[in-house]
Amino acid sequence: MVRIRGLRKSFGAHLVLDGVDLDVGEGEVTVLLGPSGSGKSTLLRSINHLEKPDAGFVEVGGEIIGYRHQGGKLHELGHRTITRQRARVGMVFQQFNLFPHLTVLENITEAPVAVRGASRKQAAARARELLERVGLAGREGAYPRQLSGGQQQRVAIARALAMEPDLLLFDEPTSALDPELVGEVLAVMKDLALSGMTMIVVTHEIGFAREVADTMVFLDGGRIIESGPPAEVLANPSHERARAFLSAVL
Ligand code: ADP
Ligand code: MG
Repeated sequence: MVRIRGLRKSFGAHLVLDGVDLDVGEGEVTVLLGPSGSGKSTLLRSINHLEKPDAGFVEVGGEIIGYRHQGGKLHELGHRTITRQRARVGMVFQQFNLFPHLTVLENITEAPVAVRGASRKQAAARARELLERVGLAGREGAYPRQLSGGQQQRVAIARALAMEPDLLLFDEPTSALDPELVGEVLAVMKDLALSGMTMIVVTHEIGFAREVADTMVFLDGGRIIESGPPAEVLANPSHERARAFLSAVL
């Protein structure tokens, strides 16, 4: 589902992604770990073409994101095509990013109506199903401020699912939550993983990684320095930097 090759990205003189290769198969869950500043968010954002690579490429479902091949070169795609590609990749952020002035139902139906051309009625019916799935049946009329952080994050997940993405990206989805609310969000993510959703998750929740991830990837200084089944990576990290990080978060 995802194929990343030789991805490089700098901000000014600062090399943030230094030749990243990553594969995620359909229905697989990859957990991405690494210290602050190691390039995790930049890598996720590159998958959605929110950051443009300086070199290398990202493919989702066999299509290069943001570019097409022509005459041996990559040419940037038009805005409409990029919007269509982005719609296939859902993203859930640390800060939820719900629209504060819209109800839960409106937050979930906005993009399907605006981007996918769904009817309001269809989109609302689907939104209610999704709210039930994330344990928020009956809350469609609430505004984000009336919900707890855990509930808001579950709405954000329902909103991402409403676009029927091929792939979901999570960037530290529980880092902004009070500790007692982390579990309800991880439970929804686990349920999604079990239902066969392809997911890339940046998180320091090692328990979740151990239980749910097929692959654990450790990023340091813009390079992948460890990759493998969580049990192996956790039991026997081969790099000192990974070992030090893991002993700090475990
Ligand atoms: P992580 O998510 O692992 O903490 P990031 O991908 O957010 O790391 O950032 C990696 C590095 O790139 C950091 O040093 C950050 O300051 C820098 N960076 C990220 N985005 C930008 C940007 N838009 N402009 C300049 N520097 C950036
Ligand atoms: Mg980050």
